[in-house]
Amino acid sequence: MDVEERNGRRARAESLLAGLAAQGVVAFATTFVDNSGVARVKAVPLSRLPDLAAWGVGFSTAFDYFRFDDWVAAPPDGHGPVGDQRIVPDLSRVVRLHAQPGWAWAPGERWAQDGQPHDKCSRLLLRRQVEALAAQDVTVRSAFEIEWVVSRGGGDEFVPAAGGSGYGLSRLAELSDYCRDVITTLGDQGVVVEQFHPEYAAGQFELSVAPESPVQAADTSVLVRATVKAVGLAHGLRTSFSPKVDTSGVGNGGHVHLSLWRDGANLMAGGDRRFGLTSDGEAFSAGVLEHLPALLAVGAPGVASYLRLVPQHWAGAYACWGLENREAALRMVTGSTGSSDWAANMEVKCVDLLANPYLVLAGLLAAGTAGMAAGAELPEPVDVDPAALDEATLAERGIERLPTTLREAVDLFAADATLAAAFGRPLVDAIVAVRESELDLFSDASPDEVAAATRWVH
Ligand code: GLU
Ligand code: MG
Repeated sequence: MDVEERNGRRARAESLLAGLAAQGVVAFATTFVDNSGVARVKAVPLSRLPDLAAWGVGFSTAFDYFRFDDWVAAPPDGHGPVGDQRIVPDLSRVVRLHAQPGWAWAPGERWAQDGQPHDKCSRLLLRRQVEALAAQDVTVRSAFEIEWVVSRGGGDEFVPAAGGSGYGLSRLAELSDYCRDVITTLGDQGVVVEQFHPEYAAGQFELSVAPESPVQAADTSVLVRATVKAVGLAHGLRTSFSPKVDTSGVGNGGHVHLSLWRDGANLMAGGDRRFGLTSDGEAFSAGVLEHLPALLAVGAPGVASYLRLVPQHWAGAYACWGLENREAALRMVTGSTGSSDWAANMEVKCVDLLANPYLVLAGLLAAGTAGMAAGAELPEPVDVDPAALDEATLAERGIERLPTTLREAVDLFAADATLAAAFGRPLVDAIVAVRESELDLFSDASPDEVAAATRWVH
């Protein structure tokens, strides 16, 4: 980023000041998501926004090694506390935070002090993946589904704030004002909520948003979660996005929907491959499926993730794909007859909300891009619950479980050359260091202890 670019950013910020002030904004926050999936923030008084936009705000480079509990898995070379980076807000996504009066927010990107991209910035990485696909005339549309539970009281135990049946109307009545405020606050902030419902478990809700380009989809995921938390607090509720809030219940997923487009046409529909996939749509999906086990180190990045990722919980614990199969890691969604051209997409079900959304999408795009380059083909789709098949049939059909532990996923990730080429070795090493540290932390922990330690972080 050179001085001319910085001056342009300053001018853009100056042009926003009066409008933000007129809306009562007095403070401006910018965030990045670290390798453990925690959104970290710095804020300035509104009058400082032009400086923030031009020069960013400092943050230690040690944040690439922050674990979810704020322990620093510092590199053994002693460089942990040495070094600085600048968080620069992207002013194309400025949002006034309606549940936090006086505040505005924009997602940040991380730059080195010399104006070069910070080599471990996940948002810049995702932008590069998107640009590489655009050079092949391919655009991606994506969305994160968000699932969460609300708990009553300030204690660390999970006390479901609403009962009622899974998907039951009565749960909406129990928390009617809260549910309304979640929907309206997001809408006021420009988030297009497509659907909202009470989920399976006690106190659990889910919402889905309209598909966007990947960087925007990841930004939206950060914004939605911050908003859901803030609205909850205003209603005296505590929010958890953890994949396993308590070990006996159904978990929270963070499914990712992906479709690929060229010349205005959806490559997940209208083709001559199975269920209407085009050959590029299939090859992209096949690349994703091939790298999913390794990708779990970013998509299901906590020890708690593997408490959720079990069969017969609709979490997609098997490395297979199938039409509308909620037990397959890749669920092909064609939409209703007549809507496929715009609705068809691939849903990645196995990932959860401990994940840094920029890293997950960067990994998925890298895997899919490699699949397209190789002209990869999908195996036979699976049209039953894999858990209903016996071992011999699973083996015969080549249907395997995804990693069942973080240990397994990290080893596959560290050895995955495609993901390393996309992420760069420094970022891969930092991610592995954070995961190894979490594995150490929980080496003797029981599932209940893991769930409790992870419950209120993200
Ligand atoms: N809660 C499930 C999960 O852990 C997902 C349920 C659904 O398919 O929406 O992913
Ligand atoms: Mg759901």
